[in-house]
Amino acid sequence: HSKMTGKACMTLYNAELNSARERQLLIENDIREGLEREEFDVWYQPIVDARTQAMIGVEALARWPRRPGGELKPDDFIPVAETSGLIYALGQFVLRRACQQLMPLSTLKLSVNISPAQFRDPEFENKVASVLGTTHFPARRLQLEVTETYVLENPERARAAIANLKALGTAVALDDFGTGYSSIGYLRRFNFDTIKIDKSLAGLVDDDEQASVLVSGTIRIASALGMQVVAEGVETEKQMKLLRLAGCDQLQGYYYSAPKPLNEILQLPLQQQG
Ligand code: C2E
Ligand code: MG
Ligand code: MG
Ligand code: MG
Repeated sequence: HSKMTGKACMTLYNAELNSARERQLLIENDIREGLEREEFDVWYQPIVDARTQAMIGVEALARWPRRPGGELKPDDFIPVAETSGLIYALGQFVLRRACQQLMPLSTLKLSVNISPAQFRDPEFENKVASVLGTTHFPARRLQLEVTETYVLENPERARAAIANLKALGTAVALDDFGTGYSSIGYLRRFNFDTIKIDKSLAGLVDDDEQASVLVSGTIRIASALGMQVVAEGVETEKQMKLLRLAGCDQLQGYYYSAPKPLNEILQLPLQQQG
């Protein structure tokens, strides 16, 4: 398998006769090879201050641009990297590369996604500290994004990990809020600095009145509990205005920019917080 590349692989990915397990093994080998060959890349998406509309940070998103036209999206390779244990190497690569690239930009904050498997690793906080040490990236410019799945599955470890990361000076965000089952009241006990409202919920804000009451209620409660609120998936000016009115602190989405390589992000007509 490991010698198959490009077209041959894509054909196999698409062959209907392949079982899900075979497909998984192919992608797994491909990821291993992609990591060895340093084919992975990190793209960034602006995070904008809702009030001033200035870019105050970016979210790092893994990209695997190896096959033009046949690119695998994170939703295809991250789950396989998780189940195969390759997420440790991939996650470490993304964190290191992002810290290196953002290092010279003195004010921009950096938000990096962390998989449940990484967060579960008792060495995780030490690995973060080691990347901060070698890249000299300031801990207080870094935020790590985790999802509720992990927190619910191991609340004790989650609490400890979050406390240790905060002791390093790094912020912790709850990603994809609104896609799971937890109430904000329960999640509050984990001391997240930020909650990110998922695009499936934030996108409802201009749908109907009930949906919009749900979104603004969530924002109000999270803010009252001392958390920063970010809305993801902002695509239109109307959504931007409604989410700002509803009290979101920060906004992120195609309305501002899709994820792009860092040099392209820095050329966007978005003022940067100076
Ligand atoms: P996420 O962390 O919730 O990231 C936001 C996703 O929404 C990104 O998809 C982004 O491209 C997309 N998005 C941003 N703005 C809009 C919008 O206005 N409309 C719509 N429809 N989509 C928007 P992407 O880059 O494909 O990543 C998907 C997921 O894969 C991420 O969701 C995250 O959970 C995971 N992921 C990506 N990179 C990494 C990584 O380095 N490590 C880990 N563990 N997970 C990652
Ligand atoms: Mg995220
Ligand atoms: Mg999200
Ligand atoms: Mg997600």
